[in-house]
Amino acid sequence: MFCDVAIIGAGPYGLAAASHLRQIKGLSVSVFGEPMRFWRTAMPAGMLLRSSWSASHIADPSASLTLDAYKVSSGNHLAAPISLERFVDYGLWYQRAAVPFVDTRKVCAMEPLSGKFQLTLEDGIGVTASRVIVAGGISAFAARPAAFDYVPAVLATHTSEGPNLSRFLNKRVIVIGGGQSALEYAALLHEVGAEVEVLVRRSRVHWLGWKERLRPLGAASGLLFSPTDVGPAGISRLVAAPDVLRKFPRSIQTRLRTLSIRPAGARWLRERLQTVPISTRTTVISAAPSNGSLKLILSDNSTRLVDHAVLGTGYRVNIARYNFLSSRILQRLPVVDGFPRLGAAFESSIPGLHFLGAPAAWSYGPLMYFVSGTKYAAAALFRHLSLSRSAAA
Ligand SMILES: Cc1cc2nc3c(=O)[nH]c(=O)nc-3n(C[C@H](O)[C@H](O)[C@H](O)COP(=O)(O)OP(=O)(O)OC[C@H]3O[C@@H](n4cnc5c(N)ncnc54)[C@H](O)[C@@H]3O)c2cc1C
Repeated sequence: MFCDVAIIGAGPYGLAAASHLRQIKGLSVSVFGEPMRFWRTAMPAGMLLRSSWSASHIADPSASLTLDAYKVSSGNHLAAPISLERFVDYGLWYQRAAVPFVDTRKVCAMEPLSGKFQLTLEDGIGVTASRVIVAGGISAFAARPAAFDYVPAVLATHTSEGPNLSRFLNKRVIVIGGGQSALEYAALLHEVGAEVEVLVRRSRVHWLGWKERLRPLGAASGLLFSPTDVGPAGISRLVAAPDVLRKFPRSIQTRLRTLSIRPAGARWLRERLQTVPISTRTTVISAAPSNGSLKLILSDNSTRLVDHAVLGTGYRVNIARYNFLSSRILQRLPVVDGFPRLGAAFESSIPGLHFLGAPAAWSYGPLMYFVSGTKYAAAALFRHLSLSRSAAA
């Protein structure tokens, strides 16, 4: 099997890239992976998206596959905050309309092969591609605190493992983390009847909400917040323009990335957590099974005995954890803190190998962690590949 471009991953970035690239005449594009798998399997039922309406469209070349178009076409009720269930349905609707040719097989291995790439699919079939776009998302990067290294899954799960929440009725559950994912899990667990406590490392929980508070300013608030909705007031505009952001000194880019993705909870979660205890300035020093429960020793020397710990401890990009990338590829890829250094159009130092989504955030900024970055990323790829194709013709 041969294709000009192979896209690994059929989440928002892979789908947006495919819908753009298939517009290039004569270019054969293949997409591998189950559509929207991460959203379908690694997020809890009942979750609401933190991103706003304007920031949750998966980009397509004619802007005709927006959430608004989905709402009209499906007749489904859809409002902000958008439910996970509807967003997944929107993603699948987008895929059927724009990328019906998705091949759901997983890519298990990838090797360089005389200026091209050789992929191996899960059933052993080989695919040769001139160019590969890795849009594999963050599931491989789930970060577990070292204290939980030897705790079995029955006692502690990372939020990405999609624990079935209803089994925690009347159970003591501790949720670790102060970001949206941890706080939303805590609210959902509380609502299914678990006895929940949240442990947060920082001195307080950071609640989002400036955008709503500034709304009465009308157009002025629009100057401070881009529709892409990533980053605090003012910074949001800069983050929405990766070409400009990339020209800033590295120290400023790093600072803006940190500010834009620091752990925070959506304002609408606050009320749902009113009766849930949240302990701040607290970390877990040790965690060990104890007669079927989990015993935790905390940094303030207190202990907790719980039935389960949910690790809302986020994700840390490290492309070496994409287990389909061969050692020959990894050896040739310079990385910084686990991120590949990318040049124009998200191309890595290996010609023809591109990375989209979170792994592109070191080079293109925090927009790349979110669905709203699909517009910039897919358009940049489209321009680059159209130009290289015309130059080659
Ligand atoms: C709990 C939670 C809530 C979030 N809420 C929001 C939100 O409200 N708004 C927002 O913008 N972002 C949100 N995000 C971030 C979200 O993960 C990204 O915005 C989005 O998923 C990026 O799309 P992607 O295509 O890069 O990654 P993904 O959606 O993860 O898609 C990548 C796909 O690649 C597949 N894949 C990986 N390896 C292979 C392989 N070897 N072969 C084939 N397929 C493969 C995966 O199965 C996956 O389906 C949230 C994240 C989490 C964890």
